[in-house]
Amino acid sequence: MTPSTHEHAHGFGLDHLPYGVFSVDGGPRRIGVRRGDEVLDLATATGRPELAATSLNPLMERGPSTWRQLREQVLDLAPDLPGIPLSNVVMHLPFEVADYVDFYASEHHATNLGRMFRPDSEPLLPNWKHLPVGYHGRAGTVVPSGTPVVRPSGLRPVSTGSTTEGPQPPSFGPTRRLDIEAELGFVVGAPSAIGTRVPAAGLADHVFGVVGLNDWSARDVQAYEYVPLGPFLGKSFATSISCWVTPLAALDAAWCDLPGQDPEPAAYLEPGRTRGLDIDVEVELNGEVVSRPTYSSTYWSPGQMLAHMTVNGASVRTGDLFASGTISGPEHGQEGSFIELWKGERFLEDGDEVVLRYSAPSTSGGRLSLGEVTGRIEAAR
Ligand code: CA
Repeated sequence: MTPSTHEHAHGFGLDHLPYGVFSVDGGPRRIGVRRGDEVLDLATATGRPELAATSLNPLMERGPSTWRQLREQVLDLAPDLPGIPLSNVVMHLPFEVADYVDFYASEHHATNLGRMFRPDSEPLLPNWKHLPVGYHGRAGTVVPSGTPVVRPSGLRPVSTGSTTEGPQPPSFGPTRRLDIEAELGFVVGAPSAIGTRVPAAGLADHVFGVVGLNDWSARDVQAYEYVPLGPFLGKSFATSISCWVTPLAALDAAWCDLPGQDPEPAAYLEPGRTRGLDIDVEVELNGEVVSRPTYSSTYWSPGQMLAHMTVNGASVRTGDLFASGTISGPEHGQEGSFIELWKGERFLEDGDEVVLRYSAPSTSGGRLSLGEVTGRIEAAR
């Protein structure tokens, strides 16, 4: 365990320029981009009507040609614009979240968790390598980085929390197994029409950008409730995202080949189109880095997740958020959740603070930092 050497301004150069929503002194919310440790007020600087808004949704709805034009304009303006110090602004949720879907795309995470939740059977269920498993989460409780997380209460199994059945009834109370899930979130800008599919290759036509995401999880509540319909109250109390949305264009140098898929998935999942993002994650607990997951080791690609979400004709809307699922690498020290890292022996205490940091290769040859995702645990109410 080593202290993080992250410096806040590092990774927010002119090759990045992520979008966010800020306010100053209780004033109205405004759209800005981050340059180092400053915010640039974009509505004022560009005069664009889609930026005279309190969320990124009107901009995101316009689609990729507008996003490209705006980025060129911002790249021209950003070096010379006066900035507002980050210490003088309050950051807000950057977009109105429409639907929230959470996937389960890391083979290492699914295997680790399968062993713990179902110790007597195969760790991966038979469908896992045929489709990206996912569930619909609760959009209304997606909160911006920095929002405190109140320890949730629910029905917990009486035993260790790893079984769903037993002779004794569950007990109600504050979760004893509060955990994190370090994930990456994909933000849909341009909508699709109901009844049509979005191909995996259509990712950049619809996805505006990427956020860091922490899917806080109450493992005991989750273990008791998840059969047969999946996660519910063990997940829905809070999901934290970064206040900064990194546009896909800033990640042009971060695309990489994922490890590969065997057996070959169905044609609609475009076998071979397994391009992922080379994004490294740092999980920091109370100021110490405890884990370093790698998004480049996931099994299903973001394009495949989007293709899967829409293969039945379900549309995507502006503001939809779909998440990767917990990012866990193959090695010890790369786990994206504490239940994997500490084998179920240690979880979050009241007062603990978690910071997720993300970095990726940038188009200028250096590295950029995605917005961090922080949250401190408050006692159950
Ligand atoms: Ca998750």
